[in-house]
Amino acid sequence: MGKVIYLTFDDGPSRETVQILEVLSTYDAKAVFFAVGQNLAQQGDVARRIVAEGHVLANHTWNHADLTGLDDAGFDRELDETAALLARLGSHSTCVRPPYGSTDDGVERELVERGMHQVMWNVDTEDWTKPGVDHIVDRLLGVDSGDVILMHDGGTGRKQTAEALREALPELAERGYAFEVVPGC
Ligand SMILES: [Zn+2]
Repeated sequence: MGKVIYLTFDDGPSRETVQILEVLSTYDAKAVFFAVGQNLAQQGDVARRIVAEGHVLANHTWNHADLTGLDDAGFDRELDETAALLARLGSHSTCVRPPYGSTDDGVERELVERGMHQVMWNVDTEDWTKPGVDHIVDRLLGVDSGDVILMHDGGTGRKQTAEALREALPELAERGYAFEVVPGC
């Protein structure tokens, strides 16, 4: 079986998502973009491009809310309203990434009731801290087959993220890795 890693991008879409899409396209890499609903509402064209280029656009809540401790109305707003907008943008993914990775049994129950499931990660590139391109590249080159990689296309400083991908993806491809969407998304 071939080696594979699963790239994921949180907190977008933003204007900076496009530079990441361009790198992914160069190396025939597919990824999951966990989008924030209020950003989707602002960046519909970028969202449609994510879907059109064969990536998966998935749910990262409406307001980047911590899902633990939400009441029913909160889950409706954060999960269902985002899912409804995703559907209008052409995505029917049932994958959810809990903001901050914050989850518990109650959150999992709420997701299951909605036919959704959470997707965590096991490699954090720490790109959100803007640690420098070399740091992000080191994290990417340290992966093993089957790893789910956390990166970001929202917020600021995404030039580092795109530049690190531009350096690491050809090296990983050379090692025999394919870049695919997380199974089940
Ligand atoms: Zn996030």
